Amino acid sequence: MNALGQRIARLIEAQGPISIAQFMTLALHDPQGGYYATRDPFGARGDFVTAPEVSQMFGEMLGLWIAQSWHDQGKPDARLVELGPGRGTLMSDALRVIRQLMPEFLKRVEIVLVEASPTLTAIQKKALTDAGANVRWSVQFDGALADKPLFLLANEFFDALPVRQFVKTERGWCERMVVANDSVLDFALSPEAIPNAALPPSRDGAPPGAVYETSPAATAIVQQVAETIARRGGAALIVDYGYGAEAGFGETLQAVAAHKYASVLDAPGDADLSAHVDFAALAQTAREAGAAPFGPVPQGEFLEALGIVQRAATLARGKLGSVPEIDGQLERLILPDRMGALFKALAILPPGARPPAGF
Ligand code: SAH
Repeated sequence: MNALGQRIARLIEAQGPISIAQFMTLALHDPQGGYYATRDPFGARGDFVTAPEVSQMFGEMLGLWIAQSWHDQGKPDARLVELGPGRGTLMSDALRVIRQLMPEFLKRVEIVLVEASPTLTAIQKKALTDAGANVRWSVQFDGALADKPLFLLANEFFDALPVRQFVKTERGWCERMVVANDSVLDFALSPEAIPNAALPPSRDGAPPGAVYETSPAATAIVQQVAETIARRGGAALIVDYGYGAEAGFGETLQAVAAHKYASVLDAPGDADLSAHVDFAALAQTAREAGAAPFGPVPQGEFLEALGIVQRAATLARGKLGSVPEIDGQLERLILPDRMGALFKALAILPPGARPPAGF
């Protein structure tokens, strides 16, 4: 067990079992040993590769979408927020397109990057020094970002938010917790069941052993984003891997290190932890907050509708990469057996808005 694992075991021995959500928060964000807090996880030599790191085309398409949405809403003074910007690649590619198409955007829109990790914030600052835009950072999304029209991008952010898991037993729904036995971390069910009313009615009649996984943090953020867009205007685009239709009775929490699945509990902070995003639940939250959700649509269809195939041809003609290289990147982003179908895009617009580009 690594140092963070030992610390978590001592904490549990002193205070009792912790929820999976608390465990994820420590494993991802502990200032000394947390996964995101202490490293740059992206790229071929890192642990995983995200769409903006596959190709500049991804950020360019998202930049186009934002520019179009801002234009459609009458070019207001506004804020563009990115949640969990990683290396800053997506924002840098998006701003390049926006600057070419609508230079006035950069004068009228303040850019805020929401990032918890000091390591990644430093990398983002470097990536965006020449962006020619008014950029600032915040460690969380909160009410301070709710006073203007809100344009928002999030790629592989919601999958990194903590989840809670409930398992159907003969006693009712019990929360899956992390316990420590002789300093070794393990899962165990809470002895007390939670009230049935705490779960959505669609979970009634679930078979024993069924798992209900939910991310209260994701719900809370989408609620604030959707309320702001409903009240002030704007548009959000959330891209992630996850379920489209209502989530099933399975658990999806996974650990990944060096491009392979790893153990969730054995070495906290050394592997990325993530879970499928429940898009149906996020869309429902947005609707209840008074906004208009669209999608989710598969990432491949979304990017094709925005013109990524034409963009790839232009890049190849301009010799901005070899043809096989650009074709390979394009296939990785859009083919259904690559990132094109598991990854999905969800848009949130003001009430009554027409479907945005790609939806
Ligand atoms: N969007 C980037 C990075 C995805 S990884 C890309 O596509 O490459 C997840 C990102 O979200 C990282 O930057 C991570 O540090 C950040 N993050 C995760 N949980 C967070 C939280 N609770 N608050 C703020 N940022 C968070």
